[in-house]
Amino acid sequence: MINKFTVNEIKERIEEKLLHHFGREAKSATKHQIYKSTCLVVRDIMSELWNKNHDLIDSHKQKQIYYLSMEFLPGTSLKNNIFNLEIENVFKEALNEFGENIETLYEMEPDAGLGNGGLGRLASCYLDAIATCGMAGHGFSICYEYGIFKQKIKDCKQIEEPDDWLNLGDIWLIPKYDEAEEVHFGGKLEEVWDENGKMKLIHRDYTTVIGIPKDMLITGYGSEVVNTLRLWKSTSPISINMELFAKGKYLKSMEEKHFAEVISKILYPEDAHVEGKSLRIMQQYFFISASMQALVKRHLIRFGTLDNFHEKVGVHINDTHPTMAIPELMRIFLDEYEYEWDKAWEIVCKTITYTNHTIMSEALEKWPEDLFAKLLPRLHSIVVEINRRHTVMLMREFPNNEALRNEMAIIYDGKLKMANLCVAAAHKVNGVSALHSKIIKEKLFNGFVKLTPDKFTNVTNGIAYRRWLCQANPKLSDFIEELCGSEFKYNAMNLENLMKYKEDSNVLERLSIIKRENKIRLADYIKKHNNIIVNPDSIFDVQVKRLHEYKRQLLNLFHIMDLYNQLKENPNKDIYPRTFIFGAKAAAGYHMAKQIISLACHLSKMLEDDPVVRDRLKIVFLENYSVSLAELIMPAADVSEQISLAGKEASGTGNMKLMINGAITLGTMDGANVEILNAVGNENIFIFGLLVDEVEKIIQSGIYRPWAYCHENKYIANIIKLMTDGIDGIVFGDIINSLTAGYNSNADQYFVLADFDSYKMAQEDVSLAYQNKTKWGQMSITNIAKSGIFSADRSIKEYADKIWGIKPIND
Ligand SMILES: *Cc1c(COP(=O)(O)O)cnc(C)c1O
Repeated sequence: MINKFTVNEIKERIEEKLLHHFGREAKSATKHQIYKSTCLVVRDIMSELWNKNHDLIDSHKQKQIYYLSMEFLPGTSLKNNIFNLEIENVFKEALNEFGENIETLYEMEPDAGLGNGGLGRLASCYLDAIATCGMAGHGFSICYEYGIFKQKIKDCKQIEEPDDWLNLGDIWLIPKYDEAEEVHFGGKLEEVWDENGKMKLIHRDYTTVIGIPKDMLITGYGSEVVNTLRLWKSTSPISINMELFAKGKYLKSMEEKHFAEVISKILYPEDAHVEGKSLRIMQQYFFISASMQALVKRHLIRFGTLDNFHEKVGVHINDTHPTMAIPELMRIFLDEYEYEWDKAWEIVCKTITYTNHTIMSEALEKWPEDLFAKLLPRLHSIVVEINRRHTVMLMREFPNNEALRNEMAIIYDGKLKMANLCVAAAHKVNGVSALHSKIIKEKLFNGFVKLTPDKFTNVTNGIAYRRWLCQANPKLSDFIEELCGSEFKYNAMNLENLMKYKEDSNVLERLSIIKRENKIRLADYIKKHNNIIVNPDSIFDVQVKRLHEYKRQLLNLFHIMDLYNQLKENPNKDIYPRTFIFGAKAAAGYHMAKQIISLACHLSKMLEDDPVVRDRLKIVFLENYSVSLAELIMPAADVSEQISLAGKEASGTGNMKLMINGAITLGTMDGANVEILNAVGNENIFIFGLLVDEVEKIIQSGIYRPWAYCHENKYIANIIKLMTDGIDGIVFGDIINSLTAGYNSNADQYFVLADFDSYKMAQEDVSLAYQNKTKWGQMSITNIAKSGIFSADRSIKEYADKIWGIKPIND
């Protein structure tokens, strides 16, 4: 226990906030005022700890990591911070004295949804783990005014609504107006010769945007180290152009302010997909430039020189979105501190590390060079020089392989290839699961591997498991503590002690009761939000993740349509009752993804309207999948659907959250599923589908004929017929076409039809296994027991050792 507060102290602190911040005494305060005062008291405790470790002048002088990410998905903070600081009991009692229930306050908090899905959630899990491990590591991102949209389902279609989370969510943000930074866009470059005959580039006629930092403090469990997530909000130095205003040009007089503020207005809702828009480039450069300038200034205050920058600062690039950190650091070193190119480049390379998150071409950033040059002329000139030197090196190393040189170029065919720039500069590059790291070495970055094989490594993703187990599933967590003690909260590998109870029928019975209670809790939510009554004794079969064709929600729906067809053909067929639960947002402009959501919702209705099937087959589509909703769903899942086409899912982390809550994985040999299989063994997982090499071979040979399945496989033929006849009256022509369309060589890109049979058989195995209660209980406890390696604490220790070279502050 690191924090010893009495109930009275906390009560007085809350009263103080109510009085001095809101001008209210407890008895007349509104719920919002009590909520905000409680948050402010927690924030104060965090600030006190922060200053203990990170004071600019006095603090430790160890290396610190700055984790750059366009996305963070923290979810809610009050419960997490109170849990991490181990102060829940005193807060509970103090609030009780005001007649407040802490749980109701927890429920008031909106999610901070500053990310799309797995990538952003990973960044937040990592900040938690860095603080937990007692290390100094901070995040940098954008303070989006609107986070990931709120999803509504209306008439079986996704509707997007703005997410104005700052309304209540800003209580966690500490604005630091004095630490604002200037960022320059557009303008032109001019060559100027100084008195020593040295040429300098001067950037003129640019537009200035101001970045204001809003700091969110980050706690770790049982740790005194509190770190920072710094979110930049954009604004303009000129609120109104008075000259234009005086001439009556009212709208024009505010144009500059509008231009600046739009940058941090809203998160792009694309997951694993890039949009080549200039606003996106501006967002990237805005937060990178502000962050790098702040870092350099901070370093100079602490050390008085930049020569040791890389010894004290590590800059981590989370996917290619923050790649501009590389040329921006070069710009600062060259233009502002007059370093020579070679020295600057050496320091920058030793500072930068990079994690690749995808190999799918639609997700690899390639910026049009002319657009980049227009918006960021100085950065462009630096990238041109980096590329020139890179090209010279490639000519030397690969004189006879032009194709390889082109593939490895940083600028090629009028495009800036950001992944290549990252690999050229970073001194370490990692993938996010063993399989993914192998694929990037053999495919995407093969040329670079020939040059610097030691640069490449793997760190398998991990999750902040205390959020996903202890906080989201208190019943299970308490039971584990009762059996094995509380050590697992500090070291997830101790979950393995549960294996002792694999043959203990009382323990298995207790686990199944806890699962059932969590299923009832979710069933209540489903009744309230979907008006569907689900049977808690049915199998809760869960697929929750972003909607993407590669994740193959469609394969799941194909299996459900197949079961439907079988029940219609033979109403007495013995099918164990299932509740298929989906949660998924589709990018607003992703037509096929939206069609698949629509299909799931219409299918849900069709099943519910049919008395023959509705007691055995149900679909629930939960709207607005988010961190908070995930916390409700994970503990209630029996089956974890991880059914991406092999080679497409870099790791997955939803699979880990479900595993630690005792769900059994039904998955392909993709991403971290492979490592889950290694951890639990063949008998505790359901694996199906083509392997990466098999998929590769089929693609290479050009022999894939999806439409052949429609003729030769009667189950598939019947599903296509059902969809052609209409689901709940709707014909999903675009979906059918995407799978089978004539001689379209792109049909069924993600091999839904090729993997269908194998999936169907695995699903039959699931049904059978579930009916053997003991066997299922043993599978489930094994999954919980073996989930420890998927702790983000383990991932972060690997990053610290293999990639960043950092240690706990107080070591
Ligand atoms: C964990 C998580 C994800 C990632 O899920 P995958 O199944 O790994 O794609 C996405 N969204 C939210 C809200 C999450 O909590």
